Amino acid sequence: MYFDDHTIIYQDGKWVKASDGHISVYSQVLHYGTGVFEGIRSYAIDGQPRMFRSEEHFKRLIYSSNAIGLSFHKTVLELKQITYDLMRRNNMVEAYIRPFVYSDPMMSLSYSEAAHIGICAWPWRKLHGEKLTRLYISSYCRPHPRSCKIEAKVSGHYVNSILAATDARAKGYDDALQLDVDGYVAECSGANFFMEKDGVLYTSPPGHILPGITRDSILQICRRLGIPVKQKRFLPKELFEADGAFMVGTAAEVSGVQSIDDKPFAKKWTSTFGYTLQKEYEKATRQDIKWEEMNQEMDTG
Ligand code: PMP
Repeated sequence: MYFDDHTIIYQDGKWVKASDGHISVYSQVLHYGTGVFEGIRSYAIDGQPRMFRSEEHFKRLIYSSNAIGLSFHKTVLELKQITYDLMRRNNMVEAYIRPFVYSDPMMSLSYSEAAHIGICAWPWRKLHGEKLTRLYISSYCRPHPRSCKIEAKVSGHYVNSILAATDARAKGYDDALQLDVDGYVAECSGANFFMEKDGVLYTSPPGHILPGITRDSILQICRRLGIPVKQKRFLPKELFEADGAFMVGTAAEVSGVQSIDDKPFAKKWTSTFGYTLQKEYEKATRQDIKWEEMNQEMDTG
């Protein structure tokens, strides 16, 4: 359960009980998926909540909203302050935070005149650790970048992710690895993907993926550690010859991949770059070091 009788959420400038929060059944989001959202993690630093790279998440929320014509009037700083207030009101420290923006009541196929904003959070401590994921190459490809705003985190896009992930689980795997429309490896249903081959990491460039904030964190850590990375499209047959692979995302953090379509990798997880990066990411999120002091700007190129 994500909430109980005491949980407080933020909705359009008000603090309300989660059980009292409501959305009109005529909201366009319910009918056509015109909402956007974020997923942010808060970690305990000396017993206090600290959101990891929240400014980048709130910037992406604003970008995603504008991408589908949902404009709301809050700055990144205001969103950050409201979220820390939400954490205090709920007495939460380690949490998954879900800001969401959604459309007005409207049935026509046009941009909503007004946007609404809510923020909720639930306790979250999970660390994937040594558990490795068994991936299945899905027959559901990622949405075509010419048929949607692929770099925006739009609610409606997630029907595609749900189809792919559910199908993979029904077939006995943990998650789906999705290809782009041209058959190259794109990303997992809710995380970006890296493979290691002959001492180099490869990840799909922006274009057919949601270029995640964790993916950016990993690119920056690689630069600092001198791990070579190429942002380049690659085919499943190249992946089958890889030494290792891992998934990255706010929820997944850095999670090792055990196999693709039951085919394991050449290297043991603990001897891969992925394992080193998992430990580095754990430090970056859970130690009292400010990300900006260790690293630089977003690198999506
Ligand atoms: N791709 C997809 C499809 C996702 O849903 C997510 C999770 N937001 C990611 C990648 C990873 O993004 P981030 O690192 O910003 O959480």
